[in-house]
Amino acid sequence: MRIFSKTNFYTPHKNNVFNTKKNEKSGQTLPVQDSVSFGAKRKERNYETILTNIPKLPCACCGTIMIPEKSFEKELVKDYDAPGGEILKQLKKYEPRMHKTEKEIVRNLYKLSKRYPDAKLDELFTKKYNVHLVKVMNKQFKILEKIDKTYPELSEESQKQLNQTVTKAQNILIYEDKNIKDKRKRIIRDFYELYKTRPEKAVFYRILQEAGKLPSSENDIDAYFVKYFDVNSKQLVKKLLEPSKSTIEHTRSQYENGKDHYSNYLVLCRRCNGKRNTTPYKKFIAQNPKMPENTQKYINAVIEYLNKHYVYGLEHYPQQIKATLAEMTEGEVILDISKYKPKWRQG
Ligand SMILES: [Zn+2]
Repeated sequence: MRIFSKTNFYTPHKNNVFNTKKNEKSGQTLPVQDSVSFGAKRKERNYETILTNIPKLPCACCGTIMIPEKSFEKELVKDYDAPGGEILKQLKKYEPRMHKTEKEIVRNLYKLSKRYPDAKLDELFTKKYNVHLVKVMNKQFKILEKIDKTYPELSEESQKQLNQTVTKAQNILIYEDKNIKDKRKRIIRDFYELYKTRPEKAVFYRILQEAGKLPSSENDIDAYFVKYFDVNSKQLVKKLLEPSKSTIEHTRSQYENGKDHYSNYLVLCRRCNGKRNTTPYKKFIAQNPKMPENTQKYINAVIEYLNKHYVYGLEHYPQQIKATLAEMTEGEVILDISKYKPKWRQG
């Protein structure tokens, strides 16, 4: 996964999408090169920027239509000090592209804004903090209760360690300050530690699965409200939209010496990109069974764009990414690129 800072951006359309001109003799359409030349590194940056800004591009993993990277270069809303309801209206255009939990949060806040028309966005967000906290704690304790029982398969020592781990988790949830983040992550890590170190693998695997059900801000709005209680309006807007941001994914990860080259690029939403991290591609597909189907939707959108726009250097992207994916998945993912019929080729 790689996310670029603003300073790394180049404007694609100025520099890298070349105009086409009719050759007077043959009537063929040929690309006209810009006078600006680039180093190889800068070219890859340009390809990244073009790919991440293709309109209505579905995430190659989850299929959500992403928010183009360039939308984040400017302020996402006009005035963060405006009443929350006003800001939420400005977010409406992004709503279809938001992930499920974020969408629910926006709807929830929108309802609240009707009751508190003067409240700022961050004030609306914290209005019901206590209600959400109680709800999320109920869910957490139900799960811990389910884990905390006597398992006949466990040795005395394993049982003791399990009970201690549950007590520690309860203490984290009850006594730790609300400013301390990553509580869920730490609790799950402790159960993972048991799974790794204790001999009764099957039991601890089941327990680990159960612990994985602890509500997280990604899939539970109560957890979301509790986790981000201290963000300001601007940070909240960013939090709501950024998971849908289009980002470059290296199919063969940089960790596996994957090339920083467009033939290795897929565009994923930031959330899926974060989940992938350094997971080998085949395993990642197994974890996300809809991915082959969504990667096809992704390449269809890219092809539609490339059929209309001549992008110097990306002429062979569909063929190249098809080859990369076929290789990485040992033939499991074979993209259909038969619709790739760029206009510029016929002239
Ligand atoms: Zn995604």
